[in-house]
Amino acid sequence: MKKSLNIFLETKLLEQQQQHLFRYFHARQNTFTSTAQYENKEYLAFTNNDYLGLSHHPAIKNAAQHAMEQYGVGSTAAHSIGGHCHAHDELEQALAQSTQRESALVFSTGYMTNLGVISALVNAEDRVFADRLVHASIIDGAHLSCAPLIRYHHNNISHLKLKLARYDQGHKLIVSESVFSMDGDIAPLHELIAVAQEHQAWLMIDDAHGFGVLGKQGGGCCEQFNLTADDVPILVGTLSKAIGCFGGFVAGSKTLIESVRQFARPYLFTTALPPLLAQAGLTSLEIVKTETWRREYLQDLIAYFRTRAAELNFPLMPSNTPIQPIVLGDNEKVMKIQNHLRERGILVAAIRPPTVPAQTARLRISLNVGHSKQDIDRLIDALKKEED
Ligand SMILES: *Cc1c(COP(=O)(O)O)cnc(C)c1O
Repeated sequence: MKKSLNIFLETKLLEQQQQHLFRYFHARQNTFTSTAQYENKEYLAFTNNDYLGLSHHPAIKNAAQHAMEQYGVGSTAAHSIGGHCHAHDELEQALAQSTQRESALVFSTGYMTNLGVISALVNAEDRVFADRLVHASIIDGAHLSCAPLIRYHHNNISHLKLKLARYDQGHKLIVSESVFSMDGDIAPLHELIAVAQEHQAWLMIDDAHGFGVLGKQGGGCCEQFNLTADDVPILVGTLSKAIGCFGGFVAGSKTLIESVRQFARPYLFTTALPPLLAQAGLTSLEIVKTETWRREYLQDLIAYFRTRAAELNFPLMPSNTPIQPIVLGDNEKVMKIQNHLRERGILVAAIRPPTVPAQTARLRISLNVGHSKQDIDRLIDALKKEED
């Protein structure tokens, strides 16, 4: 006899709990860049991706308020049937400029951008080659496209070459992140570019954690490493992390952008991003460019964290970005330490499968310009108490 829906689901939920994989969704009462309040208690937070501390910037909030007066709260329709606004056009032009590309297209989220771009470019006859550690949205994008997904070992170019050499039919799309979201390390971009050219593959880079943080003006990995649109023809990013706002984007040639606009179902069949958020993003891009002290201070904090964290017995990852994970392996152990830290008033993210591969559960420490060196000292002292 078939189990009823609820009995079937209860079994699945119980399994999730037994494997220490259950996700908890605590509700926050407010946020500031470095702190968050839960149940009237204030915590020091190392959990957000607001690396430059822009989510509360007065000029950005002001821009959103003004746009709300002009456009209202919702965008009211999909882009193709009346939802498209001047604010979107302006944001797209600014994104093209920041990334030094001809053109850009804004999606509602970074997640939808990866779904839309990959599925607009390849189909079942093609192949997607993705780093073992890419974000779920890239995997889901490949699934949506129906192109078989081939994974290569993390940042392992010879393994990628081996995989590429096996296929000569259809188009090949190589996808990597610039800064890996759960590891904080940076892909060997120049090598990826060379391999893509050698194998006539298309290269797509997801700069979700590089845009705003990397490059003198925050233009991301392409600015930092001098990568042209010929090098990286398909560049994807988000406005929801260092930009402090909301939305995703793809940047590249006019032809690429027009094709994505025409063919990406996650662009076509959803309501446009509220224009107040587009206006906020536009203002934030200007601040990202001009307030260079934010990136400089962030680098100071990263260096300070790494010096202090070297005192711990916990292993550090080779990361020079604000993402500083401590890989512990065991799901239960990660949850236990996360809870102990919370009892001491400190929040860090416990990252477990399937966000990361099995046996690589970790504490993900995320630094931002709202933190002080004293905040880092407090975190390190609390971590010291967790060492066996
Ligand atoms: C966060 C993230 C996304 C999704 O971006 P959202 O705007 O949050 O939907 C995509 N790719 C990577 C690598 C990410 O870390």
